[in-house]
Amino acid sequence: MTKEELECSFCGRKKPETSLLIAGLDAHICDRCIEQAHGIVIEESKQIDGGDLSLDLELRKPQQIKDFLDQYIIGQDTTKKVMSVAVYNHYKRLLQPETNDDIEIQKSNIVMVGQTGTGKTLMAKTIAKMLNVPLAIVDATVLTEAGYVGEDVESILTRLLQAADYNLEKAEKGIVFIDEIDKIARKSDNPSITRDVSGEGVQQGLLKLLEGTVVNVPPKGGRKHPDQKFIEVNTENILFIAGGAFDGIERVISKRLNMQAVGYSASISDDVIDQDNLLQYVIPKDLKDFGLIPEIIGRLPVLTYMDPLDAKTLRAILTQPKNAIIKQYKKLFTMDDIAFDITDGALDFIVDKAIEYKLGARGLRSLCEEILTDAMFELPSSDEKKLNVTKSYAQGKLTKTTIKKLKAVS
Ligand code: ADP
Repeated sequence: MTKEELECSFCGRKKPETSLLIAGLDAHICDRCIEQAHGIVIEESKQIDGGDLSLDLELRKPQQIKDFLDQYIIGQDTTKKVMSVAVYNHYKRLLQPETNDDIEIQKSNIVMVGQTGTGKTLMAKTIAKMLNVPLAIVDATVLTEAGYVGEDVESILTRLLQAADYNLEKAEKGIVFIDEIDKIARKSDNPSITRDVSGEGVQQGLLKLLEGTVVNVPPKGGRKHPDQKFIEVNTENILFIAGGAFDGIERVISKRLNMQAVGYSASISDDVIDQDNLLQYVIPKDLKDFGLIPEIIGRLPVLTYMDPLDAKTLRAILTQPKNAIIKQYKKLFTMDDIAFDITDGALDFIVDKAIEYKLGARGLRSLCEEILTDAMFELPSSDEKKLNVTKSYAQGKLTKTTIKKLKAVS
């Protein structure tokens, strides 16, 4: 056989038609077939990685789930523990063998109560990352009852499908994080007076989803219309995590605690109530008094709270998590061969400002950005290979006006 007559044993192309032909023992393969085969290998290994949840669960007991969360989230120990158990039980439910003992493990959907910026979204994201399942983050405020302006409740599942690259099987084992669930609370105590478009109707719509049902979902989102193709999504095994700030719920909790203290014997009033963190005493009834309908509360059986972030926690958030903000800047500078350092004094200063101007954890990043933008602009094209951010450097970059600007956008 001449050189020209050689051909790819997979696709049959002759050597001159290929860019490259590699010889094996008794066969040849061309560049195109190698690429295709490579694609197949990647696809297959993805399916193996993402497909076997039982393997993941065997590896991760609640303690290990919490250990994983600890790498990314500072503090919030109670919620981490509660979440670890809920997630563990949820996926155990998925794997339960068929038995005829009539014991049906119910869903452990979760609701987190906590001020904004305390890590609720981060918690949901980290769980999804750990389990390697798709995550959809939706804002309850954009949801409306079918037929009104806004998004139908089904749009939640469109997002989940998109997050799963339209792999239905994966989507049906995914996680949905519903943010600002408190904003769809019933506004008045008397629901019959006016139709409450944004509140109770949406809660009713969510009920079916939370409990587990088959929903016709428009794959590309948007309103349902008659000749649109739907994908049937079963929400039975989707884990729903809801979060909200529930502004003012402290008053509800405080009132209840005071009444209990009056109503019962001295032993309860003897218990010191931590007035600075009343959320830790939250019970389902408080959510009802806030305006969530009992059916919704019943379908979010795991209730937990987020601690407010104190200076120590904010300081740790800057440097400790696996992808902490400071670590990210270090990496960015390293890519330009610049040695980046920041002193404890500067870090404390950033935290002080975040607290003084009530910017929360989200503000930490904006503060760092203000302090470092000049350096990130100038250093890559200069000969300077070192940046040491001290407190006075940070002070110099953060004028009162810049902080006020940050406050306005946060
Ligand atoms: P929420 O959903 O409660 O409003 P997020 O989860 O969006 O808050 O958090 C806002 C930002 O602050 C995120 O960038 C997150 O990384 C950071 N953050 C908040 N709380 C923590 C925490 N406990 N540990 C680490 N980072 C946190």
